[in-house]
Amino acid sequence: MRPYDHPEWCARGHRCGLGEHRAHPVVMQVDGVGKVLLTRVLGTNGRERMELTGSAYLTGKGPAARRQVDRTLRGFADVLSTEATLAGAAAAR
Ligand SMILES: [Zn+2]
Repeated sequence: MRPYDHPEWCARGHRCGLGEHRAHPVVMQVDGVGKVLLTRVLGTNGRERMELTGSAYLTGKGPAARRQVDRTLRGFADVLSTEATLAGAAAAR
């Protein structure tokens, strides 16, 4: 793919360049908790990925905050590995 053969989902303009293509970010807002922004990207290596960023309130302090961070990271890891497994199984069909 030439650098400016944009995929159909590319937001174009300032969002893509330097050999990468980026979609408009998708925002998931959870009222009173936080939000996550997800952006689909086609990298210079030809692989697609999703970039995640966001913020959420911690409901406690000290050890309670650390447990919340730990559970959140483990949840992300579970979702990412499950989705990768499901996508791999679907691609193998
Ligand atoms: Zn583009």
